[in-house]
Parts: sequence; structure tokens; C-alpha cells
Amino acid sequence: MCTPAENKPEEAEKLLKKSNEAKGCAYPPGCKNAVGAALLTEDGKTFTGCSIENSTPCLSACAECVAVWKAVSEGCTKFKSLAVCSDKKDYTPCGGCRQVLREFGDKTEIHMQLDGKAKTMTIAELLPMSTGGEAK
Ligand code: ZN
Repeated sequence: MCTPAENKPEEAEKLLKKSNEAKGCAYPPGCKNAVGAALLTEDGKTFTGCSIENSTPCLSACAECVAVWKAVSEGCTKFKSLAVCSDKKDYTPCGGCRQVLREFGDKTEIHMQLDGKAKTMTIAELLPMSTGGEAK
């Protein structure tokens, strides 16, 4: 369950809600590690993603990456923020997703759950001293 912090801006709340809805599409249905993500671009578009597991583990995809790939495949590479939602008490994007997001800049805000509470951090904070492609 994803609960926005009381002082969370309206934009983050909407994004968290969309990530929670996207979680419902996680594959396989009813999986224990269902995650949803919602990515907001700088021009106001939202792309959602869900975790997609595979019987071959290395072929599974994280919800965050699915959202990024959907955005990039439609020509959007400038990201403002991303919300992630899981049924776990604590959930933050994995290292791979942090680097995938970092490719497109280090100022993207990530809305997530930490210590059971909503928390927002930038990619620069989540992945310090990193490098990226600085989206063209
Ligand atoms: Zn990941």
C-alpha cells in the first residue's frame, strides 16, 4: 500500500496513485513482488510501468525501467519525477533502475516508500558520483 505523506504535493500524490494502479498490472498476476511505477516527463506526460517477472530471472523487468522504456520509445527523455509503489513496507528503486534513470539526468525526483513512509529523493541523492548520458 502506498500512502503519500501528509505534506506531499498534489503532483506527487497523483503520481503515487498512478503507480499504485500500474502495480495491478504486474506480471504474473498476484505475484509477491508486484511493483508499479509512474513517470512524469517535463512536458507533463505520464508513462506507467509494472514489474514483469519471467521464469528466467535475468529476463525480468522492473516497473521503473518499463516506464522509462515506454517514455523513451515515444521520444520523451526529459523526466521530472517518478513514483514507485509496492506492497512492501519499504521499497526503493534497485541500482539498475537508478542508473537507467540517471542516464537521463540526476535531478529527477523519486517518490517512494522508506521506513514505511513516503519519501522523495533525487537521482543524485540515490546514486551519488554517477555518470549519465545527459539526455540529448
Ligand atoms: Zn529495478
